[in-house]
Amino acid sequence: MNIILLGYPGSGKGTQAQVLARKLGLMHFSTGDIFREEISKRSALGLEAAGYLSGGRLVPDKLVLDLIQSRLATETRGLLFDGFPRTVEQAQALDDYLASKGLAVDRVFFLDLPEQEVVSRLGARRTCVKCGMIYNILTSAPAKENTCDSCSGALTLREDDKPEVIKKRIMVYRDQTEPLLAYYKGNGVFSEIKAALAPQAITEQILSSLKTVGLC
Ligand code: ADP
Ligand code: ZN
Repeated sequence: MNIILLGYPGSGKGTQAQVLARKLGLMHFSTGDIFREEISKRSALGLEAAGYLSGGRLVPDKLVLDLIQSRLATETRGLLFDGFPRTVEQAQALDDYLASKGLAVDRVFFLDLPEQEVVSRLGARRTCVKCGMIYNILTSAPAKENTCDSCSGALTLREDDKPEVIKKRIMVYRDQTEPLLAYYKGNGVFSEIKAALAPQAITEQILSSLKTVGLC
């Protein structure tokens, strides 16, 4: 089973992906997490991607698609994509890649969040530097301030969750990623999920939708 989570930055893709991957036994594939990891390792890929992330722009398709090839080549589990694809070109490349293995995208969930919510959520987001766990200091705060519940790592505000960069990311989303909605609506795998709810309620909507179509 191969699933894609789509939506504005801050719509909850990462949070849902962490939970769903565990529940469904899928590989959580987050291109954003991979880029941040490569940046912290100062690898060649990280150095190339860093300026795009800090400026809120998309990493060029070529780099992203090389990543897919190299990271997924030996993966045998179903895939849960979070933050990929982000352009129509990436979506087409993913379809071709899966088709070459006799696979397909089985379901696309669009986490629909009003745009004004996006800004407040991203400003309140904190990410664990050690394990990547995501918190929101207003709605899902850790038990101890600035400390990860699961690994005691320090929580930080992502570089690109600062107000100027948030604005840019929203524009980039509208321009380059929103056209994917039409792309996937056309092929019958699309479901819309109300993302202004609590994380648990969103997970339930996704799982019940997967049950309805016989995927879990
Ligand atoms: P969010 O969904 O909250 O915006 P991500 O962690 O998915 O955050 O992405 C952070 C940044 O990483 C993006 O702004 C972009 O620069 C880069 N990035 C992640 N995934 C892709 C992708 N599929 N294509 C191009 N750039 C990407
Ligand atoms: Zn942690």
